[in-house]
Amino acid sequence: MSTDILQTPIDYLTGVGPTRAELLRKELGIHTYQDLIHLFPNRYIDKTQYYKVSQLQRNTAEVQIIGKIVHLKTIAQKKGKRLVAKFVDDTGSIELVWFKGQKWIQENLQLNTPYVIFGKTNYYNGFSMPHPEMELLSKHQSGFQIGMQPIYPSTERLSNRGITNRGISKMMQQLFLLLKGKFHETLSDDMIQALHLITKREAMLNVHFPKNQEILQKAQYRLKLEELFYIQLQLVTKNLIHKQKIKGFPFNAVGSYFNTFYTKHLPFELTNAQKRVLKEIRKDLGTGAQMNRLLQGDVGSGKTIVGLMSLLLAIDNGFQGCLMAPTAILAQQHYTGIKELLGDLDISVAILMGSTTTKKRREIHAALEDGSLHILIGTHAIIEDKVKFKNLGLAIIDEQHRFGVAQRAKLWRKNSCPPHVLVMTATPIPRTLAMSVYGDLDISIIDELPPGRKAIKTVHRYDSNRLKVFQFMKEEIQKGRQLYIVYPLIQESETMDYKDLMDGYESIVRSFPLPEYQISIVHGQMKPADKDYEMQRFVKGETQIMVATTVIEVGVNVPNASVMIIESAERFGLSQLHQLRGRVGRGAEQSFCILMTSYKLSNDSKTRLETMVRTNDGFEIAEVDLKLRGPGDLMGTQQSGVLNLKIADIIKDSDILKTARQYAIKILKEDPSLSDPKHIAIQHTYAQLTKYKNIWNYIS
Ligand code: ADP
Ligand code: MG
Repeated sequence: MSTDILQTPIDYLTGVGPTRAELLRKELGIHTYQDLIHLFPNRYIDKTQYYKVSQLQRNTAEVQIIGKIVHLKTIAQKKGKRLVAKFVDDTGSIELVWFKGQKWIQENLQLNTPYVIFGKTNYYNGFSMPHPEMELLSKHQSGFQIGMQPIYPSTERLSNRGITNRGISKMMQQLFLLLKGKFHETLSDDMIQALHLITKREAMLNVHFPKNQEILQKAQYRLKLEELFYIQLQLVTKNLIHKQKIKGFPFNAVGSYFNTFYTKHLPFELTNAQKRVLKEIRKDLGTGAQMNRLLQGDVGSGKTIVGLMSLLLAIDNGFQGCLMAPTAILAQQHYTGIKELLGDLDISVAILMGSTTTKKRREIHAALEDGSLHILIGTHAIIEDKVKFKNLGLAIIDEQHRFGVAQRAKLWRKNSCPPHVLVMTATPIPRTLAMSVYGDLDISIIDELPPGRKAIKTVHRYDSNRLKVFQFMKEEIQKGRQLYIVYPLIQESETMDYKDLMDGYESIVRSFPLPEYQISIVHGQMKPADKDYEMQRFVKGETQIMVATTVIEVGVNVPNASVMIIESAERFGLSQLHQLRGRVGRGAEQSFCILMTSYKLSNDSKTRLETMVRTNDGFEIAEVDLKLRGPGDLMGTQQSGVLNLKIADIIKDSDILKTARQYAIKILKEDPSLSDPKHIAIQHTYAQLTKYKNIWNYIS
């Protein structure tokens, strides 16, 4: 079909005047014929199936039954009356009920004559069906057979203005008549054959007018695959272009810093996963293209050391490096930790944060510009324009979901040629989502914890068991352990949350009195210096209990802390709970996580708590999280286009996504410009797509 006709404004379709066109545009984003045929049904009503009364179940959607009415009566009720019929088949009976139009029905219904009825059932002391659609069996069999009836997405405003499902179906029929079934194929013959796909034409026809379940499924599969394939084609192309076009500094040398550190300073043997990831990074850094890599690893998997060793590679090659963390506490901790690891290596490291004094700042700026400072660690203070490097070669971003794309871009501009970028995140992104959201980044995964870690034991306790929990805390403190108690703080300004925190703190102070017990408290309304002081007391082991809001969520490392108590755990999201739990289990001792809640729990909260109790595996948790929340809430998805999918579902169709990605990679490797005649359909579709819909806008 010619593309031009598909670009026709929707106003031109018979039956769609200016008012309706305006509604379609506003409510469903339908501007053209093209948009309308890509409005896919949300669901279908299966009119190919007939139920027996005995097969009915509560909560089934619409059903179709063949039977007879044997009895009809009117029953008085509070307001007016209702008409009730007894409808039977050879397996049982149900009630049909009418609240309106009773006179007409009474006059026209034929008793003891076979009917096909259709509708939703209710259950109350037996099944009933209010206002069924009814047709005589004899007519039903001779008439036009509807297979699956499509139900299109709609809005209240649309149906109020008379654009009903039936209306949309009619428009669709009208449009298909006009198009005369002339659809160009959009995938290659190779793909169609290898994947046993039906043609584009068959797929479009059957997604809107399916004859039966089987063909509908084939149509949906084909269209989902196509949709995901073209997104992947774009992401993979982008990644390839990136590698060809964006030059990076080649780090050819593995020099003395790296080697000396590896042989003399590394306090432990790297895990195999850490070694593998380092190899991947070293390979990237040597290619001459800019590295743009995401490093995923569960909390405690040892990402920092991998980051540090990558920084050493930069220094060995005459470059500077920086490490950016989302909070001052974390930046401070990286600074202290890295200084300690480097020991007597003559590498200069500085820390820059919002609170850094002007005098210190000047020193840092100068040392960065003359190149005497090798590594700069800090918060987002380091991306300020004033901060200039002599020769930045590698930028590392820790816990990247706290930083936006714009901030990443700012780092890119810190050198004439963009520095290599390594993004480290402890929030595992399910593979399928990573493929769609970060399809243009390379991904490394540390999927192994350092040896000797004991799995954290997680339990769920109700608030009413608090005394027992306190007792347990005392026993652990007796053994020399430290513990965290965390309160939710959704918004730094929410006074309610502060009250919870302060009430909790007071009750803990009462139960754990001085001088036997020392307690730290850290929250967002404290001055950075005070926070830091309290944090350091805990790190040094001077206090046994750290009462905190979620400021400690990210990255804090106190190996002696072995108990994490999370108050109002039902208010936290899964990934946050998992992050918090990751603060313990860092030393050799058995660690515990106690999730405290009230008795009132939503189903989602229950699922979250059960998941936490069941598993420590961050990837498994991320999958559950994705299912509970959908992709909309997850980081990065807003820009990625995964929410604009018309037919595929990023969660349910992950297998199709994998297939689509494989094909995109295979085809682009073979034929990057898509100029091979066998890829003509793909090339053409791809060109159309980028012409009419600037998909790049929402992917980059
Ligand atoms: P994360 O991946 O959460 O950032 P860290 O880098 O903070 O984890 O590492 C957690 C702890 O594990 C640190 O104390 C670190 O020194 C230690 N660690 C890292 N790698 C290893 C290893 N291969 N063997 C033993 N301990 C390790
Ligand atoms: Mg970390």
